[in-house]
Amino acid sequence: MKIYNSLTKRVEEFVPNVEGKVGMYTCGPTVYHFAHIGNLRSYLMEDVLEKLLRFSGYDVKRVMNITDVGHLSSDADTGEDKMLKGAKREHKTVMEIAKFYTDAFFDDCRKLNIKTPDVVEPATSCISEFIHMIEVLLEKGYAYKAGENVYFDTSKLKDYYVFGNQSEDELMVGVRDDVTEDTNKRNKNDFVLWFTKSKFEDQALKWDSPWGVGYPGWHIECSCIGIKHLGEFMDIHCGGVDNMFPHHTNEIAQSESFLGHKWCNYWFHVHHLNDETGKMSKSKGEFLTVSLLEQKGYDPLAYRFFALSSHYRKPLVFSYEALDQAVNAYKKLKNRIASVPEEGAEDAAAVKEFHDKFAETVGNDLNTAMGLTLIYDVLKADLSGNTKRAIIADYDKVLGLNLLSAPESADDGEDEELKAMVEAKIEERKNAKKEKNFELADRIRNELLEMGIVIEDTREGVKWHKA
Ligand SMILES: [Zn+2]
Repeated sequence: MKIYNSLTKRVEEFVPNVEGKVGMYTCGPTVYHFAHIGNLRSYLMEDVLEKLLRFSGYDVKRVMNITDVGHLSSDADTGEDKMLKGAKREHKTVMEIAKFYTDAFFDDCRKLNIKTPDVVEPATSCISEFIHMIEVLLEKGYAYKAGENVYFDTSKLKDYYVFGNQSEDELMVGVRDDVTEDTNKRNKNDFVLWFTKSKFEDQALKWDSPWGVGYPGWHIECSCIGIKHLGEFMDIHCGGVDNMFPHHTNEIAQSESFLGHKWCNYWFHVHHLNDETGKMSKSKGEFLTVSLLEQKGYDPLAYRFFALSSHYRKPLVFSYEALDQAVNAYKKLKNRIASVPEEGAEDAAAVKEFHDKFAETVGNDLNTAMGLTLIYDVLKADLSGNTKRAIIADYDKVLGLNLLSAPESADDGEDEELKAMVEAKIEERKNAKKEKNFELADRIRNELLEMGIVIEDTREGVKWHKA
């Protein structure tokens, strides 16, 4: 399989360190607020990548951190701790906020068919590991103490800007105007490994360390948690494109200085989801969450379909019109699949052939849009219904679109009331049939027909749709 590697800026053949096995790392959420669907685009595409690796025969171990301490409002270690901000906003403790938004994150993931990684580790459970790594970095001369914080010294590295496609000016600290530059830093992009005094005032969570009571910086957690669970050599590290600098750059600086060798071979970055005004953020415009989409009547999997329809390395523009188009395409596809009869022998050779075709097509730098197109080839192919269904079930292991489940019966602007009414009528009709009252059963069917509702008796039970 081939994948674009942000380190080399090329599409490369993916070769893991140990044949057949993949160690995969995903930067997890900072659990101070709901994730917006832009954040979730990254998790969604990373989920597809993980599933494709498994589909291609790899034994994958995927690790994700949960940031519940140390992430300040600017990624360059300035501003307020995001967790504290969340706690103040909601008059809760930091741990309550962490628990609430961690659960909310995984609820969203479940709705989007995003598999939970094999290992999920909150930053606050690894403090002793962070301290150990910082001690080693100090010993090796890659870190220094200043103003009672510990900083990583970026001038000690020959090539700090590993993803370096930006100029140093663009990489300046104080990206935001409302935050002041940290004068303890020797070099402008040095970053904090351990905070004590400088950000200490009302920090809720703090721990003893050789440098005083304090708390870890944000970047150190991913290095530590990654090495803790995946060992000294990581195969692929994932995140949103906005994590490239400074977060991933700093992760590499710390990890490789600590280990004394190259850490991770492939870096996978998912591009932004933009709204029509530009980059989506929590601070401006409508705050787009999975729950909001649901409130507006959208199936979360229609958003998954929308995301899969475009390439992960291109910015994707969100609008309700675009989402509506995806909803329609998704419904049409599911309806076509539902119409494939469950008949004929399953042709194992054809299933294998189509499996390999999918692995190769989508395995070309995660071409999910082509993967969706392949389904139409399957539908058109001269194969038995059961063979087609087997192939589509196989593809759905990667696509995660519940392609074989019954299509949504109601149309646009799905009316819960109507749905409940129809389902009650169907139940009534079922009972009538059970009691051999076929006259009543027919009357119910005609009643529904008059309301524009068609019901069909199928092997999986009664299905209905608008006429
Ligand atoms: Zn990270």
